[in-house]
Amino acid sequence: MENKGYGAHVLALPYPSQGHINPMLHFSKRLASKGLRATFVTTHFIYKTFQPEPSDSVQFDTISDGYDEGGFYQSESIHDYLTRFEDNGSKTLANLIMKYKELGHPIDCLVYDAFLPWALDVAKQFGLVAVAFFTQACAVNFIYYYTHHGLLKLPVSSTPVSIPGMPLLELQDMPSFIYDNGSYPAYFEMVLKQFSNTDKADWIVVNTFYKLEAEVVDAMSKICPLLTIGPTVPSKYLDNRVKNDNRYGLNLFTLESSINIINWLDTKPAGSVVFVSFGSMANLSNMQMEELALGFKGSNYYFLWVVRASEEAKLPKTFVEDIGEKGMVVNWCLQMEVLSHKAIGCFFTHCGWNSTVETLSLGVPMVGMPQWTDQTTDAKFVQDVWKVGIRVKVDENGIVGREEIEFCIREVMEGERGKEMKENAIKWKGLALEAVSEGGTSDKNIDEIVSKLIH
Ligand code: UDP
Repeated sequence: MENKGYGAHVLALPYPSQGHINPMLHFSKRLASKGLRATFVTTHFIYKTFQPEPSDSVQFDTISDGYDEGGFYQSESIHDYLTRFEDNGSKTLANLIMKYKELGHPIDCLVYDAFLPWALDVAKQFGLVAVAFFTQACAVNFIYYYTHHGLLKLPVSSTPVSIPGMPLLELQDMPSFIYDNGSYPAYFEMVLKQFSNTDKADWIVVNTFYKLEAEVVDAMSKICPLLTIGPTVPSKYLDNRVKNDNRYGLNLFTLESSINIINWLDTKPAGSVVFVSFGSMANLSNMQMEELALGFKGSNYYFLWVVRASEEAKLPKTFVEDIGEKGMVVNWCLQMEVLSHKAIGCFFTHCGWNSTVETLSLGVPMVGMPQWTDQTTDAKFVQDVWKVGIRVKVDENGIVGREEIEFCIREVMEGERGKEMKENAIKWKGLALEAVSEGGTSDKNIDEIVSKLIH
């Protein structure tokens, strides 16, 4: 190979949402730290609207999802968005690959989000190595794999469901698209189609680590070989081997001042604050927001609550003024920075997969309040497999009431059970660190890919 100053050129293409950009961006930085050239691709809309923070290891480039002015929110429906993205994305991805060839920096490998199987077809047209990147838990992927291949028939006719490597699953432990029959058909089709062409992928990588899901990984690997490469969180919070990797660096929401948040946390005793976030997509009902507000207030713990600007109007009228020093409400923050602060005692979370692995990586126990998609399965594992938290109970009207919220917070913040969850969380933090450190399971898997690309 001629000396280009790097081993091989990787193009990384995430699905354009926060929960998919973050892990792919970190993974790109990790590949770059191992001698590859990494170009991270996002949509024209995201690039020009949210501007990635400059990185000394990853370059940015763009393709079109067909909605250059407004992104997802410009589309008529999820189905329209996904269809137009496939159409425009395939063409503009092909153009990008040709552009780099002409520039003398040809692409050797495409790491694409498994939500976008058409990207694999483009990669193969150009003879590139293709890596399918699964951003969700291995358990969730395996459930979709089972469903896609007809090994799990829908609608589920009897429970509990038994899938190799997993505890028995009740309906509410399955991803919501499975138990909430007919909900979000376009997204459901998308998650199943992840497996439509993976037989052509050179590698399947999953954002998890071996010991976290050992039984599932072993079971799935028998029929669908995969490599665990996670957790893909900024390296500063785990092994600190990736230079300047202290945050993800592309926020689709306006960040609140870190200084204000950290100053506020600094005044609170260790382990006394409940951090609350429902991630980048969940929309809660007005009634649910009110119950949460009253539950947090009633728990008498300090709380730091991320309420996206689009959700703010759902808060009770004078809530923010009334809480005084007890609570802080912000629109968006650097979640890892907050979670790693010693004042945080637990994370009240929707159990999005990134939030879950970030929390495990930092040894923080959780209250899980899953909303939809994979979060329900993540919450099952949080409570019953990793034993690092508890899942709230939903009442007959689909609401989690204020007493339940208070109860769950106390369970995690106080007493024997809370202590055990904390100890378990610390254990998983150690194992996450081990996985990404030199010679760890994820590190070795990444090295396997890198070394094949270089030689
Ligand atoms: N996040 C953040 N600031 C916030 C809330 C969330 O940086 O105030 C990040 C969080 O660290 C995670 C991502 O947004 O990396 C959310 O992904 P997740 O899979 O947890 O949930 P989703 O948003 O996809 O539902």
